Amino acid sequence: MTQSFEHGVSLVIEALRFGNVRTNQSILARIGRLRSLDIKRPPSTLPDSKSHNHSGGTREADSIGPAMEELRLRVLACSKCPHLVEFRQNVVFGVGSLEADLMFVGEAPGAEEDRLGQPFVGRAGQLLTRIIETMGFARSEVYIANVLKCRPDIPEGSPGNRAPNLEEMQTCLPYLREQIHLIQPKAIVALGGVAMRGLFNATAPMKDLRGQWRKFGGIPVMATFHPSFLLRNQALTEKRKVWEDMLQVLEFLGRPVSERQQNFFLSNKSL
Ligand code: SF4
Repeated sequence: MTQSFEHGVSLVIEALRFGNVRTNQSILARIGRLRSLDIKRPPSTLPDSKSHNHSGGTREADSIGPAMEELRLRVLACSKCPHLVEFRQNVVFGVGSLEADLMFVGEAPGAEEDRLGQPFVGRAGQLLTRIIETMGFARSEVYIANVLKCRPDIPEGSPGNRAPNLEEMQTCLPYLREQIHLIQPKAIVALGGVAMRGLFNATAPMKDLRGQWRKFGGIPVMATFHPSFLLRNQALTEKRKVWEDMLQVLEFLGRPVSERQQNFFLSNKSL
């Protein structure tokens, strides 16, 4: 019974990777019904089974993978916020390396992210990718997720995006906690004031929150401006502040910082 269940889950995972969205929603509804049968899974697939560490031990990405897939299926089938379920095209779970030392957390998917099912793929996402690469990482080396996994609804025909409210973020936050628990990054970068509110219920202006370390689930979190803020505010001084926050992160991670990186934005350079 368990073997055939696992086989079925593998097939579903493949379908989710390569199938179309409408088919996925129907598959997910069926998974939801299967889950209600409470079929027992092997202990190794449960999130709490992860035991990797950062103190020189080997990362056990292979053992994290099934647990992350189980979580992903659960989130893709989530219907805790009916108004968002009605509105969303895709659930935007998160992308990146399960062995990531560094994780970026934003607030919620926008229109482009909702359409593609990936976080940070719009203009702000392109800027985030440039920040990540300027730090010396490939985008695929870090993990990127949002506090909210579904796009906040807006009236039909309205342009733009809406920030998620506190209730929506609190409803969805346990999923992000599980992602962080599985990945165990050495550091997290919280992008923008809404993400900071979702993570810490922080209400101070970002100019006061940025550049400081806090802890979330035992993991150090650096707050910085959201890339969309930098797109709205092209001042070199604001970009330099984000870069100073990222230099702190690099220093914390023990990553080498080149002179070029150190001096970024002191001359007329832009991300
Ligand atoms: S926002 Fe989060 S909690 Fe709400 S329906 Fe989407 S996945 Fe579920």
